[in-house]
Amino acid sequence: MTRYAFTNVRIFDGTGADPYPGDVLVDGGRIVRVARAPATVDTAGARVFEGRGRFLMPGMTEAHTHFSWNDQPSLAAIQFMPPEEHMLWCVRVAKRYLEMGWTSAIGAAAAKPRLDVVLRNAIDAGEFPGPRYLAGSQEITTIGALGDNTLPHMPFEELSFGSVCSGPEEIRRSARTFVKYGVDHLKINLSGEYIAGLPAEMSPFSEEEVAMLATEAHRYGKRVAAHARSSESVKLCVRHGIEMVYHASFADEEALDMLEAAKDRHFVAPGIGWLVRTTYHAAEYGITEAVATQMGYRRELEVASDTLRKMHRRGIRILPGGDYGFAWMPHGTNANDLQYFVDYIGMTPKEALLAATALGGEIMMRPHELGKLQEGYIADIVLVDGDPLADLSVLTEPARIQLVMKEGAIFKECSTPAPAEAALHLEGGDHPLREEGVKEALAEMS
Ligand SMILES: [Zn+2]
Repeated sequence: MTRYAFTNVRIFDGTGADPYPGDVLVDGGRIVRVARAPATVDTAGARVFEGRGRFLMPGMTEAHTHFSWNDQPSLAAIQFMPPEEHMLWCVRVAKRYLEMGWTSAIGAAAAKPRLDVVLRNAIDAGEFPGPRYLAGSQEITTIGALGDNTLPHMPFEELSFGSVCSGPEEIRRSARTFVKYGVDHLKINLSGEYIAGLPAEMSPFSEEEVAMLATEAHRYGKRVAAHARSSESVKLCVRHGIEMVYHASFADEEALDMLEAAKDRHFVAPGIGWLVRTTYHAAEYGITEAVATQMGYRRELEVASDTLRKMHRRGIRILPGGDYGFAWMPHGTNANDLQYFVDYIGMTPKEALLAATALGGEIMMRPHELGKLQEGYIADIVLVDGDPLADLSVLTEPARIQLVMKEGAIFKECSTPAPAEAALHLEGGDHPLREEGVKEALAEMS
């Protein structure tokens, strides 16, 4: 079966238009017809999903994904997960993303050299379900900077968090090594991070080192992503054409001017959820609001909110996702970012949803065929029970994500679930989010 019809749905097509009633026809992995009511699609030979007015939207893109973060409360827990278990973990997490409607994702650094590449290859080969994935390198870092967690007594290079380089030639070697492994892009840590005991405002790399990385990456046709909280790190990104700018909290007016002037080249994925949840929702793990304030996160959230509002007003592309995979922000809850975009960046709900869909197609470098429900586009489609534009939180509830299609294949379907089936479809019960979803689904049916 390759032909599917979604009838009587509310279509959010990702073009910026308000949702409208209609039908969508999929054939051979592509959207072949979008019919605005009263027009309908020809359902002959198609499996038909009765929409009953439910919300149909493009699959979402997570712009800053770490599948190898392992839902634990510390960086050490990620670093010291043995490689074999770590690979299996990544496989399980990728499925969770897809089932929550994330049909594409940008790898924002793997915790070991080849985790992202091997996972991407397995997903592409159809061996395991997961989002369409662009694989990242490890975090390229320098001595004493974020990601240099090496301990003198740990002999296994694979257990080093980042690829620690000093000087342009070591950067070149690291870049070429990751290109050899098959990454889609390289990741560099251009600023600090409070939770690692390093000020967010520090910028540890020299101009020559960053220039070397960008030159090597671009020579091989690879993009670069940067952990860039400090103002100087954002400027380094623009000066060296580093396409994906993560965080950007402390970008000053000059940095904003530079970003705006090159806004067709850059994407900003601030990972605002990390700041919000670490400041206000991590007390159970020892990071009370007072601790987070002392660390610097509360102030960073305030500054970032201001910076990102300015960025949004300047038309700089801001995308959701970032650093999910900690105990206080587990994988699968990524759509929390959309409400945070409204609350902290001043987006409308529609703008937040467009950032997750249409802009996702752009950061995946396939804007002509990803991120919209339009004729000719790849059939990455999510059927939602509820109206995300009225309440974005429905996208964080597993039971509300009723059908997920990637490239015309169905990976999740729970439109009329029987209780036992609901549990099956939301399998992965080790995860509190899943259990909640199952309970909710059961409650709805009783
Ligand atoms: Zn990150």
